Amino acid sequence: MITPVLPTYARAPLAFVEGQGAWLIEEGGERYLDFGAGIAVAVLGHAHPALVEALETQGRRLWHTSNLYRIPNQERLAEKLVARTFADTVFVTNSGAEAVECAIKMARKHFSAKGQPERHRIVTFEGAFHGRTMAAISAAGGEKLVKGFDPLLPGFDILPFGDIEAVRAAVGPQTAAIMAEPILGEGGIRQLPDAALRDLRAIADAEGILLILDEIQTGMGRTGRLFAHEWAGITPDIMPIAKGIGGGFPLGACLATEHAASGMTLGTHGSTYGGNPLACAIGCAVLDIVATPEFLAGVSRTAGRLRQGLEGLVAAHPKLFSEVRGQGLMLGIGCLVPNGEVVAAGYDAKILTVVAAGNVVRILPPLNLSDAEVDEGLRRLDAAASALEARQ
Ligand SMILES: *Cc1c(COP(=O)(O)O)cnc(C)c1O
Repeated sequence: MITPVLPTYARAPLAFVEGQGAWLIEEGGERYLDFGAGIAVAVLGHAHPALVEALETQGRRLWHTSNLYRIPNQERLAEKLVARTFADTVFVTNSGAEAVECAIKMARKHFSAKGQPERHRIVTFEGAFHGRTMAAISAAGGEKLVKGFDPLLPGFDILPFGDIEAVRAAVGPQTAAIMAEPILGEGGIRQLPDAALRDLRAIADAEGILLILDEIQTGMGRTGRLFAHEWAGITPDIMPIAKGIGGGFPLGACLATEHAASGMTLGTHGSTYGGNPLACAIGCAVLDIVATPEFLAGVSRTAGRLRQGLEGLVAAHPKLFSEVRGQGLMLGIGCLVPNGEVVAAGYDAKILTVVAAGNVVRILPPLNLSDAEVDEGLRRLDAAASALEARQ
């Protein structure tokens, strides 16, 4: 018999009822070190005092008015994002997939408004993940995402990951945009080299098309910069973000230049909940902490310690692990045994990690992890690995 919760997830038999910083706690009091952060969402850990304060204060004042009226908190959030990025304008959403939808619609509208409706195709990469809406699964392709959901949305040219020559060949008179994640998250922590990001920017410029960077997972300080593209010294035209921006509250946004957004005029897009006063109060509180040089420097420092430890872990368990990859606190461990077994052994050792494609275990801890928590996490991962080895 079907469960009351639609059974689309193979859930671990764990149920947390409380969170404190990098720790999640079960009903019985059992504590787990959270190196997944709800898939790169809880950037400040759980129940961060500043976010609790923002939630409680705004929660007592006003939750929702709709976008029929001005929303001062939404304006503040948009102004902060504009001040801190390439963007001139922001559409606020409730999730990543909605931010991606906005990005795709914006790219198409940009050209149709210019009298070039034939320019509607978007070049994307295999192994990508852009969310679960019809447009987002059509953009990413991949059997697991699309099987049984035909007919898909047409208009995507899905190319081998990072193949710049294939991009050059695919871009033509019908191309509106190139869309990519700087580092594949669900796709297994595979990084587009800075040179590839610069090539994509150059191709988009030469062809007069738009570059969309999906920074839903890589953004909000995850790599040690506020957004991952900053490392490559380029900027996109459109950037969907989500995950970390709400610190655990459902929130996303689509950032864009004035040029890219030129077709998104009155009445062309909307959302009932998107950018409501409560969500935006929390988004502002997250940004005020994360978008500071000191915080981001802390991410890089912590990432250095964690990465060094993970390299040691891989070296100590050569039968289980092949490599560490990724950037900042978006790290992946390549596995030589099924990644699900590694994650399950982590549960036994009271540490949470996340699987990814390509037999990778993702390490995506809160960005404000202490050195002691890094070391404790490494100890627990080592205990998990040793237990797994003993069973091989
Ligand atoms: C998580 C994710 C999404 C989808 O976000 P949702 O909030 O689940 O809709 C899209 N793109 C990337 C890169 C992601 O990591």
